[in-house]
Amino acid sequence: MKVFEKIFKFNGGIQAKTKKNISTTSPIKQFGLPSKIILPLRQHIGKLAKLKVSVGDHVLKGQLIAEADGNVSAAIHAPTSGKVLSIEKQLIPHPSGLPDFCVEIEPDGKDKWVQIKPTNWKKIDLEKVNKLLLSSGIVGLGGAAFPTHLKLNHGKAENSLKTLIINAAECEPYITCDDMLMREKTNELILGIKLVHEILGVEESVIGIEDNKTVAINLLTKAIENEKNIFLKIVPTIYPSGDAKRLIYLLKGIKIPKSQRSSDYGIQMFNVATIIAIYRFLEFGEPSISRIVTITGNLRSPRNYEVLLGTPLKEIIDAAGGQVIKNNTFIMGGPMMGFKLPSINVPVTKAMNCIISSEPDMVEEKKPVLPCIRCARCAEACPVQLQPQELFWFSKSKQLEKAEEYNLFDCIECGCCSYVCPSNIPLVQYYRFAKSEIIEERQEQEQANIARERNEFRILRLEREKQERAERNALRREQSSNEDKTKLIEEKRKAIADALKRIEAGGEEQ
Ligand code: SF4
Ligand code: SF4
Repeated sequence: MKVFEKIFKFNGGIQAKTKKNISTTSPIKQFGLPSKIILPLRQHIGKLAKLKVSVGDHVLKGQLIAEADGNVSAAIHAPTSGKVLSIEKQLIPHPSGLPDFCVEIEPDGKDKWVQIKPTNWKKIDLEKVNKLLLSSGIVGLGGAAFPTHLKLNHGKAENSLKTLIINAAECEPYITCDDMLMREKTNELILGIKLVHEILGVEESVIGIEDNKTVAINLLTKAIENEKNIFLKIVPTIYPSGDAKRLIYLLKGIKIPKSQRSSDYGIQMFNVATIIAIYRFLEFGEPSISRIVTITGNLRSPRNYEVLLGTPLKEIIDAAGGQVIKNNTFIMGGPMMGFKLPSINVPVTKAMNCIISSEPDMVEEKKPVLPCIRCARCAEACPVQLQPQELFWFSKSKQLEKAEEYNLFDCIECGCCSYVCPSNIPLVQYYRFAKSEIIEERQEQEQANIARERNEFRILRLEREKQERAERNALRREQSSNEDKTKLIEEKRKAIADALKRIEAGGEEQ
């Protein structure tokens, strides 16, 4: 039996209404070709990808259109064949609401692939696999969008990795894209786990899944029946069990300290969709050009779609029947950690795992915020065991040093404290604000230090130049006075010689 029941429960967390069944009654639907493709050049953590195409170029499906700029970056590929219409700033799905550089492609309707080929990954070393993955454009598809090749490397060099964890918890309410992938691509997931297991050289692979995903649990249990080193571990449905450190504790009982990574403890973790993406790239040569997105909430036909990256979100919302109750409010991600979209005129990106059309209770007039009554419910709910009420007070009164002392930066912004607060205090907003203030202050300080250093360097340079100029002048003066002396001596010599000549000439005359 491969299903292990023993888990290590973490402190805090909440049991929120999951609302997952809204989008799991229909299978994943292929969205097909959109009217246009808008590809942001930054869909990942790290540097903007470097452009490889120009306006007017014809591109094929899977063709590289921007390459990773350095190691912390990710490549971008054309999701279909067509013509590059523009390269300019367009609105992207980001809380700032600011535009960023995008490549717009007009699909030609042929959906013609560039030549792709599988990798004989068993025959090449990890360094080469990583180089290939850097060109694949694959990032963490759970929403973090961290370049995958970087994770594959950690810990492997020292042969210290022992466990691969597959994060199948999907703990945020509403989101079901991983659940549906596990149901519909069970075998591909297991093949992907075996592949990553072998590449990392780990001893065991553990799938951590919440107990509310019964269909996927049954399918996975059957699929790993004959696997010796792949285990399924069912964890209770408590938010935020899918947070990496919480899941590691639930599955292994290991607490990863804040300054360390899971790979320092022999553990590497990947999301379900990321494992399948790695498998499809190494086995078939398919780069990252599509993803599953949960389109749910207040819509006529909520479901999961397989969507080409760059597809305009509005076209998918329309395909899902549009909003039942019009409020034009949409959230990207889950209701706990997601953010309100500035508009639905944005493209689908690698980080877009879920779009929630807000239900009326999500947008109704905000309940009045009351004073903190020191009930400590927030502290009980905090999975990181912080003191949210103290953090709130220090953030609100701008005692930022104190907030840092109380480990503000350990806060994972899970929202459990805000969720349970009887005074309706939007606690996480205060923490986000305080964090951004501190980061801004640090950046300003850094800029000031750089400016001061530059100024000090400039003064030193000017002084050095002044001194060099003075030395050059002194040398020049000395050289010219020496030249004058030589000239004088020469003139004197010449005068004496002339006088002698005259005397000699006079004697002869006498
Ligand atoms: S839950 Fe709200 S009211 Fe209670 S202590 Fe925390 S911040 Fe204060
Ligand atoms: S948002 Fe931060 S302070 Fe609040 S419960 Fe989560 S980790 Fe704790």
